[in-house]
Amino acid sequence: MDFEDKDILNQRLEPSPGVLYVVGTPIGNLGDLSPRAKSLLQKVSVIACEDTRHSGHMLKHVGAKATLLSFYQHNARHRLSQLLELLKGGESLALISDAGLPGISDPGETLIHAARKAGHNVICIPGPCAATTALVSSGLPCNRFCFEGFLPSKDKTRKELLARIADENRTTVIYESPHRLVKLLQELNQFCGAERPLQIARELTKLHEEQIGPTIGDALQHFLENKPIGECTLVLGGAPQHLETVQLSQQELVAEMKVLIAEGASSNDAAKAIAQKYGQSKRSLYSLLHDIKTNNGK
Ligand code: SAM
Repeated sequence: MDFEDKDILNQRLEPSPGVLYVVGTPIGNLGDLSPRAKSLLQKVSVIACEDTRHSGHMLKHVGAKATLLSFYQHNARHRLSQLLELLKGGESLALISDAGLPGISDPGETLIHAARKAGHNVICIPGPCAATTALVSSGLPCNRFCFEGFLPSKDKTRKELLARIADENRTTVIYESPHRLVKLLQELNQFCGAERPLQIARELTKLHEEQIGPTIGDALQHFLENKPIGECTLVLGGAPQHLETVQLSQQELVAEMKVLIAEGASSNDAAKAIAQKYGQSKRSLYSLLHDIKTNNGK
């Protein structure tokens, strides 16, 4: 990664007129606001925030002087045209949410979409996000993952999604509020089983940050004994890969390996393929083949 002088220069030139800046803000620790985000929030003319009173504290702390406009689910339609007009008039506009990255289980997506559609440049000033922060600190595989945000509350849709999550091989990240956490853990217990790996990141970046796990059963037990408080993000381990569950005799395993060898595979590759297919040890299948060859040679 290159960090050049021009990056610092860019920061000095920001904000540009008519650009929508999507700014990541802390998820609990004010020290996580980047210098670039701070400088931009000090210089833009208008800041759209989910809740002006909530963000007012952080914005006062950074010395922002911009006009604050609320932008949330229920006024989005009415506010959208006003914000687009401001961009058209050459104002610089920053979009923030109560915490983290706007658009990630927070309002923002509609404004970003509308600004792009109207031909305005949209620039994201990256910052903290609970989903990725919880994921990378969970110790669970994070090279491929799914993000579900908050699960739907409607019974049928929720059950269908829980069944899909239970079958998902990739790590899944879920948001939940503390007062619904135990219900979600009971459902995960029912759909995925108590032994499925789960790490719950509580109060990330804050003084009392903690991790609860390492399985669904352990987390459920913990929160039945300790009332959930604070913000929680769940990181659920993927479903184990389905292996052929059929139990084959040694002769049958050898026969399958011989078919692969007759098709041109090496003994090593045949043992590897059948080991993966039936969840067996490659080494023991390879020696099985070797023993048969030796015995036949006698
Ligand atoms: N836009 C935010 C982001 O980028 O992370 C997410 C906003 S969403 C409305 C709020 C949810 O994020 C919370 O219910 C919780 O699941 C998760 N969350 C936010 N802050 C957190 C923190 N400090 N620790 C753990 N989870 C957090």
